[in-house]
Formats: sequence, structure tokens, C-alpha cells
Amino acid sequence: MEIINRRQRMFSISRKLRRDNKKVAFVPTMGALHAGHITLVKEARQSADIVIVSIFVNPVQFNDKGDLLRYRRDLTSDAAMLAEYEVDYIFAPEESEIYPEGFSTYVYVEGVSEGLEGASRPGHFRGVATVVTILFNTVRPDLAFFGAKDAQQVAVIRRMTTDLGFETEIVVIPTVREESGLAMSSRNENLTPEEREKASIIYKGLREAKLAFRAGTRNASELVGIVQKTLESEPLARIDYIAAVDAISLEPVEKIEDREVILSTAVYFGKVRLIDNVALNAGQ
Ligand code: AMP
Repeated sequence: MEIINRRQRMFSISRKLRRDNKKVAFVPTMGALHAGHITLVKEARQSADIVIVSIFVNPVQFNDKGDLLRYRRDLTSDAAMLAEYEVDYIFAPEESEIYPEGFSTYVYVEGVSEGLEGASRPGHFRGVATVVTILFNTVRPDLAFFGAKDAQQVAVIRRMTTDLGFETEIVVIPTVREESGLAMSSRNENLTPEEREKASIIYKGLREAKLAFRAGTRNASELVGIVQKTLESEPLARIDYIAAVDAISLEPVEKIEDREVILSTAVYFGKVRLIDNVALNAGQ
């Protein structure tokens, strides 16, 4: 496993891999790795000849400076974890490698970037789409792996990949959860033990709504109401939003019919903002 810091070195390796006809799988991350990231890495390992993981805490996608400052950076422990899963390359650039002096080109995906996370975190998806474009152009992967936990991010990346003509196939991996049901997240580290325990209410609410959906409820506001009632029963939880949206367009949905719908929520526990979602398919 090689750790690459320079973009130029990453370029020349990916050029050689393409020349050698290697299938390259890419997992973009911000480090502070947990079992969710590792699931993406394992899937990547099974799907390609070469696995490249990037570790870059992208300042442009943070609208909350406190959140950026709190974010754990520990390349040594992340690299040790990735070495166990036969990762070939870690791309861990400095900020100036990605954003050189005078940087002024940004990617903004209209529509899908605007609601939910986009509304609560202005500029977030502009940062995500920009960095993923730079990373895709540097790594040139055949496959790129993303987690369903960040459902809106998936919609943004899919739209962008189609629109900008990247030859990368986007692969989405189901959300990995702690035993309590809490979605794994690097931000869980910032919760107090009590908050972490109580935060399992998020998935509990989403599950209850999913069960109601399975039992026949097709009215989105009723399902949102179920999540809201559950979350409101927990004094430590402060709801940012709960919404039912079309999985592709991210447009709000009122009546759930054939298309896949994402029931999505963002909840504060103290200063920590957690997101989670479940997919509702008419087939379920
Ligand atoms: P991050 O380091 O938080 O930017 O996440 C890197 C990738 O891992 C993104 O595609 C996330 O959606 C994915 N990811 C993060 N947490 C989970 C999880 N609990 N289950 C599945 N994928 C996840």
C-alpha cells in the first residue's frame, strides 16, 4: 500500500493503471474511518483489480467552522485500518494540492443540491461536487463507491456524473449501523455516551415509518409525522428537518406511488448534527 500526497503522482499512477488495463475502484472519504467506510472498501476490493481510497477533509463543503475543526484527522490510524483490507493506494493530499492558489472553479448541480442538506448547509453540495470532480479527474476510476446514508449526496453525484460525462460507474452501499441502529458516522465520536445511546431514536423513528409504509400508508405527511412523534419523545433530540423526497430528483413527495422515495431526517444532539434515511419502495 502506498500513501500518495501529490496530485501529480496520483495522476501518473492512474495513467499507468489505465495503460495496463487495470480496473480501478475508488472510495472517497474524509478519514476518521469506521465500519461503514470499511464496508465500501470491501465491496471495492471485490469489484476491481486496484482499490484507491482518498482521505481528504474538504474544507469547501463545511459551512460550519466548528464542525470542520472538530473533525478527527488521523492518517496513521486510518492507514493502518486500510492496510488490513488490501487497499493499494491511499490518496491523502494537502489542501493546497486540491485547491492551488487562485483556485476559482466550482461545480454546482442545480435542483438536487437545493433541498434538505443543501438548504440547511448552504454551499455544502457545491463543495462536494467540486471535490469529487477533482478527485474523479485525478484518479479516473472505473467504479466509485458511496454510502446510502448520504442519499442526497448520491443523487448529486449521479446527476453530476451523467451531466459532466464521467466514465465512472457509481456504486451505492447500504447504510452500516451500530447495534443500536444508529447509522455509523465519523461525527458519532463527538457525541457524549448518553447522546450516542439516545441517538438510536433516529433510526427507530425511521423504522416505524417504514413499517407503516409496509402496512400500506402511502401518505408522505403521515410517515413524516410518525418520525416526528418518535423524535419528539427524546428530549436530547432537536429536529432540523424530516422529509419524504423522490430518490432521484429529491423533489418533495406527497403521495408515494411506484418510484423510490427517501424518508430523510437531520437531527441535532448537542452540537452534533446527524443525518439518516430509509428508502421506501412500492415493491416492499
Ligand atoms: P465521509 O468520510 O463521511 O465523507 O464518508 C465517505 C463515504 O462513506 C461516503 O460515501 C459516505 O456515504 C460513506 N459512509 C459514511 N458512513 C456510512 C455508513 N454508516 N454506511 C455506509 N456508508 C457510509
